[in-house]
Amino acid sequence: MKATELNARPSADFEAKLADTRALLQQAARDYAPVFPNGPALVSQASSLGAEDMVITHLINTLGLAIGIFVLDTGKLHAETLDLLAQLKANSQAPVEVFSPVNEAVVQFVQREGDDAMYKSIELRKACCHIRKMEPLERALKDKKAWITGLRREQSGARAEVPLIDNSDVRRVKFNPLADWTWGDVWHYIQQHQVVYNPLHDQFFPSIGCAPCTRAISLGEDFRAGRWWWENESAKECGLHVKPHSSHEVAVSQSDTHGTFVSAQAHIAAGDVKPEGRAEAKATTQINEGTHV
Ligand code: SF4
Repeated sequence: MKATELNARPSADFEAKLADTRALLQQAARDYAPVFPNGPALVSQASSLGAEDMVITHLINTLGLAIGIFVLDTGKLHAETLDLLAQLKANSQAPVEVFSPVNEAVVQFVQREGDDAMYKSIELRKACCHIRKMEPLERALKDKKAWITGLRREQSGARAEVPLIDNSDVRRVKFNPLADWTWGDVWHYIQQHQVVYNPLHDQFFPSIGCAPCTRAISLGEDFRAGRWWWENESAKECGLHVKPHSSHEVAVSQSDTHGTFVSAQAHIAAGDVKPEGRAEAKATTQINEGTHV
């Protein structure tokens, strides 16, 4: 079943939320407009190419806002995600920039720790996230005064307090224009506007990150269950949305509490890899990476 058919259920006040979201994006574009004519805006959207981010990108494009988009290509993304990135680059009016890790750092890390280092310890997994995500993110945000994310309060307990405008980081403002959207709202918008999305969402991947660290979820599992599933909840973060000097760790995954996926296919997909799913996950990774890296 298509993710749109399964999930598109708008809230009663969806239209009001949508109007507020449009207004917030317009405010971000206005407040962080380019300093020089034809220069880059001081605000960018950080896109993981997940469902929420595709909605935001669609809004930026349809509103004609001077907001650029950037994507972190970790070198470990699924083939489907890379295909979606290519489509986005070809069709988005707003400029799309791709930031990749420093090749030498990746090569040295893999030579030293192995291609499956993320499964060996939390420290090595975080080291991999730092090389492939955090360092490229720092470059992407270097000259920005604000950024836009697809965080939603419903995604997890740790995100229950996500504000629409987050001023907690003195370096730059974070706009979370979908903070009060539900998963049903996201898919209603996608369905209404025929927004292109990652086909992995149709295969019970509500949250899509790097291939080695993402799996499908099954009936009754939390939305986030498919991310770093071999770690305990408190360790699940890669740093992209961790507040400076905060012990309140927040995962980057596009996660959600709406996890009632009612498919035997999803059961099989998840059952094959949990809880000792490393071997299967690695096999999947090798297939994906063999094609695209
Ligand atoms: S999510 Fe996994 S593969 Fe991606 S950077 Fe983090 S540890 Fe590495």
